[in-house]
Amino acid sequence: MMKCKNHIDREATGGCITCGSLFCRECLVKLSGKYYCKAHVVNVLREEAANTALVGSKSRLLTFLLCLFLGIFGVHRFYLGKTGTGILYLLTAGLFGFGVTIDLIRIFIGNLKDVNGLELV
Ligand SMILES: [Zn+2]
Ligand SMILES: [Zn+2]
Repeated sequence: MMKCKNHIDREATGGCITCGSLFCRECLVKLSGKYYCKAHVVNVLREEAANTALVGSKSRLLTFLLCLFLGIFGVHRFYLGKTGTGILYLLTAGLFGFGVTIDLIRIFIGNLKDVNGLELV
């Protein structure tokens, strides 16, 4: 009979998918259909948090429309949280139109990010 790695007196009910060690029910955590030990479930949760953090909450379509219609006032840059360049655009009519044109292209090819460096969605 296999024993739990943490509890010598308890029978193992399954193994952690990351380390392969056997654990009792109490030591295992089920996550999206797979079992992990408590040491490794933390890694999985951290990875998932990191993955979701790569995409921001700002809309790419809205940014594009704001840039297209209100770009010379820097509205799309305020929307992305880039207040500094937003004010600059406001004062210079979107860097005399050039900045707005470049931003439209950057939004279109997915190159413009929000203030935290996150992709637009
Ligand atoms: Zn493990
Ligand atoms: Zn255990």
